[in-house]
Amino acid sequence: VFRQDNVPQAPEDPLFGLMAAYRRDEFEKKVDLGIGAYRDNNAKPWVLPVVKSADDVLRKDPNLNHEYLPIAGLADFTTAAQRLILGADSPAIKEKRATSFQTISGTGAVHLGALFLSRFYPRSSNQAVYFSSPTWANHNQIFSNVHLPIRTYPYFSAQTKGLDFQGMKSTISDAPEGSIILLHACAHNPTGVDPTRDQWKEISEVIRAKKHFPFFDCAYQGFASGDLQNDAWAVQYFVSQGFEMCIAQSFAKNFGLYGERAGAFHFVTGPSPDAQDTVGRVASQLAILQRSEISNPPAYGARIASLVLNDPALFKEWEANLRTMAGRIIDMRKELRSNLEQLNGKEGSWKHITDQIGMFSFTGMTEPQVLQIRKDAHVYMTKNGRMSMAGLNTSNVEYVAKAMDKVVR
Ligand code: PLP
Repeated sequence: VFRQDNVPQAPEDPLFGLMAAYRRDEFEKKVDLGIGAYRDNNAKPWVLPVVKSADDVLRKDPNLNHEYLPIAGLADFTTAAQRLILGADSPAIKEKRATSFQTISGTGAVHLGALFLSRFYPRSSNQAVYFSSPTWANHNQIFSNVHLPIRTYPYFSAQTKGLDFQGMKSTISDAPEGSIILLHACAHNPTGVDPTRDQWKEISEVIRAKKHFPFFDCAYQGFASGDLQNDAWAVQYFVSQGFEMCIAQSFAKNFGLYGERAGAFHFVTGPSPDAQDTVGRVASQLAILQRSEISNPPAYGARIASLVLNDPALFKEWEANLRTMAGRIIDMRKELRSNLEQLNGKEGSWKHITDQIGMFSFTGMTEPQVLQIRKDAHVYMTKNGRMSMAGLNTSNVEYVAKAMDKVVR
């Protein structure tokens, strides 16, 4: 049955292919700038000290067992996750206008939201889901899997290496009324370019005017700036404006819990007399979707995150750990930029490296340059010129800058 014409060979995931090529490379000074996970200054994965503390608490708990979690997940976790993203004083929480489900990290949250929208979002034939161009590659696959039509809005300006704000706004404004607009809450992947607060306000006005539906993907809260509330500003602003919306929340990066798959999906409805009724109906359908997809979510990561989110002392420790990660990355941005500008003598020529935020930077390097730097200097980054800042450290930043300078001249 499964002949070549039925099941053609699929292309390798480009990112995983890049990782394999890096592993095979025996060059001593090779540098991995493809990786989407935090590395410490010794290029090693970092278990957050607060996660170790929470793990100790968990292991000593005599009542711990391996029973199933409820379909919606660990309630202490989802309530705390909701508070974290919406803000403790959120009107949506006070007015019980939000419902939250624990998911298989951010990917699972995006998927649950996409699945829900594919079933229940009232659509006319010309509506679609709009992604930024470019976006996290998995968005395309996740929304295609549930058969939602996809279009894009401009986002990155190759010229300024910043936001193409006019392009973004006019495409969202021209989109058929009631389209779904996917937005990165902070630390846009892959570009590292975020709208300013004033730009977010303008975006919200266009979305409101066209009765679009915002869907926030938040994979880097606290990891971007080191400040949890600052990184949730856009989401909280939209909620304050009364939007009905979806939010996908990942705890992979900000807790370093990548493999534990801790995340949450939130649905928030606007203020109205039947808001609680809406939320109740939505939650009842989400429960059915979740049951058929995963039955119930995994426990370990959610237990760790829940302990930290609900304990003031651990929470403080977490905030310090976040500042360590974000701070190291911001320092690496500065170092890379200053090394590059010293080499070419042109002040401001690499300003976009420090303007961009979060795990990634869109360097502006072309595909031939990316292939050249891989061949000449064993520096690995994705073909679109995206560099993972977490792969830089005080031992390799100068080496990388020299290699970049050489290929871009
Ligand atoms: N969304 C975006 C924009 C991301 O960059 C990522 C991870 O790279 C995710 C979602 C989901 O990650 P995870 O499923 O590991 O939480």
